[in-house]
Order: sequence, then structure tokens, then C-alpha cells
Amino acid sequence: EGERRAPRANTVPPHMGHKKVLVTGGAGFVGSNVAEQLLARGDDVVIVDEMNDYYDVRIKENNLRRLREMYPEDKRLAIYRGDICDEDFMLQLFEKERPQWVCHMAARAGVRPSIQDPFVYIHSNIRGTTHLMELSHKFGVKNFVFASSSSVYGGSKSTFFSEDENVDNPVSPYAASKKACELLAYTYHHLYNLNVSGLRFFTVYGPRGRPDMAPFKFIDRVSRGLELQQFGDGSSSRDYTYIDDIVDGVLRAIDRPNKYEMFNLGKGSGTSLKEFLDIVQSHVGKKAIIKIMPDQPGDVPYTCADVSKAYDLLGYRATVPFSEGIRRTVDWYMNDYGKNSGSCIEPETQANGMGRA
Ligand code: NAD
Repeated sequence: EGERRAPRANTVPPHMGHKKVLVTGGAGFVGSNVAEQLLARGDDVVIVDEMNDYYDVRIKENNLRRLREMYPEDKRLAIYRGDICDEDFMLQLFEKERPQWVCHMAARAGVRPSIQDPFVYIHSNIRGTTHLMELSHKFGVKNFVFASSSSVYGGSKSTFFSEDENVDNPVSPYAASKKACELLAYTYHHLYNLNVSGLRFFTVYGPRGRPDMAPFKFIDRVSRGLELQQFGDGSSSRDYTYIDDIVDGVLRAIDRPNKYEMFNLGKGSGTSLKEFLDIVQSHVGKKAIIKIMPDQPGDVPYTCADVSKAYDLLGYRATVPFSEGIRRTVDWYMNDYGKNSGSCIEPETQANGMGRA
């Protein structure tokens, strides 16, 4: 590896001790997996999630139920239902819980829906993130880690994205909202010395993955013998990152505060759509019925992460090969998906109240 950029000096010493971490979006795909690992290693976790219906809310309820069942009666896990933009609610939450670490995973995700309804994205992503940073600086949070996205590279001409790249050309309201979070994070670092790390995730997949995303949809439709839509000729390629690798990167960013840094968290290599479908078909053991559709506006045809900065500063390296990740995801889909539906949020936390579940 050649000489890398210099931001080592921008790194605050590692902090490995016991932590109380606020995980926003903790009922979602990435957030619930991060919460699970934090609890497993002994940290305290405060989850806040509004449980919106962007996708089937029972999936989020299941994620929470699973955590609660793993840690019944455990005071180390608190679950709140509410909107991170709700000022009174969030102020009360910070006063009561006083988290010293924030892992901000809540957001309206999804590129295409953001074109239909940009204002929801402005609300949850830009307003929500600003509000959390405001509280974080007022309450002396030691490290603010948040989810950005590879979509910020949207208009970029290159296909191998490094953090040095100009990201001034977001091609969807979702991407623009994530870029806005990165800019505001700089402002909070500059004004108040808030330690911030933004993590640009590259298409995350795995067990309990989001049903609106291609990896889930492909496995689901191939398994059920249903037609699936392939956008473009199959040559487009993405960097798909297995959930365990993403969680590892998030925990590393929590433990190693930075003054202000953006990191790519990806696998570091791309998989073409055609290759992807071949792997899914071989693990599912069925042939896909494919309908070819034109490329979609807002979609980025090639994404591949340069992950050397995350390696240099965080020691991050993705370890799960794509075919193995898909095998585990298919295994989950066949054996676990769809079991245990029904609500798990305890009645007192259903309201916007402050009850701990
Ligand atoms: P997700 O939709 O499963 O989780 C997000 C959670 O945030 C949801 O449970 C939702 O109810 C909650 N939420 C949304 N707005 C909220 C609000 N205003 N107040 C409280 N809770 C709110 O999505 P995910 O895949 O787990 O993504 C986690 C983060 O990573 C998001 O910030 C997303 O933009 C980012 N990201 C994800 C991917 C991916 O491939 N999954 C890729 C790039 C970036």
C-alpha cells in the first residue's frame, strides 16, 4: 500500500471502555444489528425509532422483539418510540438517559422513493440529524457516528470511490440529504468540537435485510418463482457489503473517535448484476424469471468503495465474500424469514411517551 492521506492526526485516542450508546433507527436493519453487537460486548444501548411504515413495520417490531428476548429484564437495553425531530421528546430522552455516545442510523432510506417525496427525506435526514447534533453538543457527547451513504458519489465520473473525491453532485434527494448531513456535521465539529464520523455505507445486505432492496427482492422472487425486474443490461455493478462487516465498521468508528472524518464502509469490490443473479439462482436452486427494464433515474450504475482510509484509521476490512454472504442470506430467508410476526413494543411505549420497554 502506498502513502495515504494524512488525517491520522485528526484521530482522537481510542476509547474502548464501557459505553452508553444512543442508537437511532435501532429497530431498522443496520441499527438493530449494531444494537445487538453493542449489547453482546457489554455496552448499554438506548434505542429510539419512530417505527415508520416505509417497509413492513412488523420486520422492525421483530428486530426489537429479538433484542428484548435476548436481554429480558436487562436494564442495559432501553427502547423508545418517537421521532428524532420531536424536540420535547428528544430533549427528555437526553435528560433521562444522558448517552455519551451517539450512533445515528435513523433516516428515510431509499433512492427512488426520495424522488417521489423529497420532503420526508429533508425532515428525517437533514432536520433529524441536525437536531441530534445540537443535543449531542449540548449534552457533551464524546463521539457522534452517523450513517451517510455511497449515494453521495452519485454524479462522480470515477467508479472507484475514495473519500477525497468531490461529492458535490448528488443525483437524488436522498443523496443530497446525506451530503447535507455531512456538511452540517462539519459545522458542528467546527463550532463545538463535536467528534464526528460519517460512514458512507455501500449497499448493505444480509439476514433480516430490508425488503425494499435488491438483494432481498431477488432472493424472494427467485424463491417464489416470480418474475423480477432487472434494470439495465446486467453489466451495472455495485459494491455489496455484508451486514456483519458493516456492523464491525460502525463499532470501530464508535470506539475510535475522530474530530471530523468521512469513511467508506464497503466491501471494496463490485459484483455485476448478472453475476449477482447467477449466485442467487445457484444458492436458491431455482432459475430466475427476468424482465429487463430501462435504467432508472437516480440510480448509480457502478459503485465500488476504496476502503483504504477505513482500514488505515479504523482497522476496518470487509471479510465476508459475496457468495458466502448470499448463502447466509438465502439460508435465513428459507428458515427464519416470516416467522414471529406481531407487535413486540410494550404498550406503554407505543405512545410517544418516555416509558422504557
Ligand atoms: P432502515 O430503514 O431499516 O432503518 C432506519 C430506521 O430509522 C427505521 O427503523 C425507521 O423507522 C427509523 N427512522 C426513520 N426516520 C426516523 C425518525 N425521524 N425518527 C426516528 N426514527 C426514524 O434502514 P437501514 O438500511 O438500517 O439504514 C440505516 C442507515 O444507513 C440509514 O441512515 C440509511 O440511510 C443508511 N444507509 C443504508 C444503506 C443500506 O444499504 N442499507 C446504504 C447506505 C446508507
